[in-house]
Amino acid sequence: MAKLTRRQWLKVGLTIGGLSAFGLSYRDVAKRAVYGLMKGASGTITRDRIIGNALEPEGIALNGWQANPQQTVSMTQCFSCWTQCDLRVRVDRTSGKVLRIAGNPYHPLSHEHHIDAAIPMAQTLARLSGESGLDERSTVCARGATQVDSLYSPLRILEPMKRVGKRGEGKWQRISFEQLITEIVEGGDLFGEGHVNGLRTIHAPDPPIDPRHPSYGPKTNQLLVTNAADDGRDTFLRRFAQNSFGSKNFGAHGAYCGLAYRAGSGALLSNLDKNPHVKPDWDNVEFALFMGTSPAQSGNPFKRQARQLASARLRAAFRYVVVAPALPLTTVLADDNGHWLPVNPGSDAALVMGMIRWIIENQRYQSAYLSIPSVAAMQR
Ligand code: SF4
Repeated sequence: MAKLTRRQWLKVGLTIGGLSAFGLSYRDVAKRAVYGLMKGASGTITRDRIIGNALEPEGIALNGWQANPQQTVSMTQCFSCWTQCDLRVRVDRTSGKVLRIAGNPYHPLSHEHHIDAAIPMAQTLARLSGESGLDERSTVCARGATQVDSLYSPLRILEPMKRVGKRGEGKWQRISFEQLITEIVEGGDLFGEGHVNGLRTIHAPDPPIDPRHPSYGPKTNQLLVTNAADDGRDTFLRRFAQNSFGSKNFGAHGAYCGLAYRAGSGALLSNLDKNPHVKPDWDNVEFALFMGTSPAQSGNPFKRQARQLASARLRAAFRYVVVAPALPLTTVLADDNGHWLPVNPGSDAALVMGMIRWIIENQRYQSAYLSIPSVAAMQR
């Protein structure tokens, strides 16, 4: 055999390596080609020639609505967030398991124009399906749809879990409800990091938290109870925190979720007690300005707002601007009507002051509207 130079050996090596990589990367394609020649399809033959291997539909709209006898459709409510939209849940009749979650078309939070409650369900479901288009379809948000996973996830927490490692180590131990209650009430060296006060210690309705600051109230106020969603336990938690334990500090959901927006709405409507929501008048608005928020990604009801925003975008006269440090997904190059105005965090107040100054200097305010006296002024 002729003696190869080092360069020639290198070339041979590269060629063999290249051929091997080529063979490896096309191995699956070749396998599928052979399978296709033998079976007449390049992959596994699907269960149904129309729906493939997807979940069977809840029924078909053919000569009226024909429900799938294997499934039950139940209308219920989502507690995954405070919006509490109504849902349409498909349940397998044999296993009793939830198969899929979608929107309840009768519910105003699940659709821009919900279906009249007087219309029978079979008629409604027929309107959602087949060739009826997307107009009638009632949707669920991504978070609501994944509640199937929350229901059946093996990681779902069903028992009290106590931290056994250092904070952040992710080490947990299952404990009984009896142990949980004893530790919370009595306290002690619960984590091997020193003494932790239990509820019994801070249940002291007379001594003040800090005599220098009497407005903090009694020590009992050191208990803060809060919750994330009103899944039926809100009233119970309030009773425990306020009526039973005696703390003033029940932190309702609205105390932290969207508080700035709620307080702003409340101030506008002169009701800082209930802080009623103000929503965009999507059917008539010509210009919308969103500060530090992104329409359709926030501001409940999310799903309804997303559809309303999509419909408003179809109107040539509609423009909107989102002022936020992060690029909001629903505004990214959506069309020429939506714009993102990036600001540095904390500089939005300066922007607003600049806008106010411009409005005043250019007299672009509605003086007639602003001159309308309030009820109190009229009475005076
Ligand atoms: S917005 Fe989504 S997560 Fe919240 S209640 Fe509605 S469906 Fe559930």
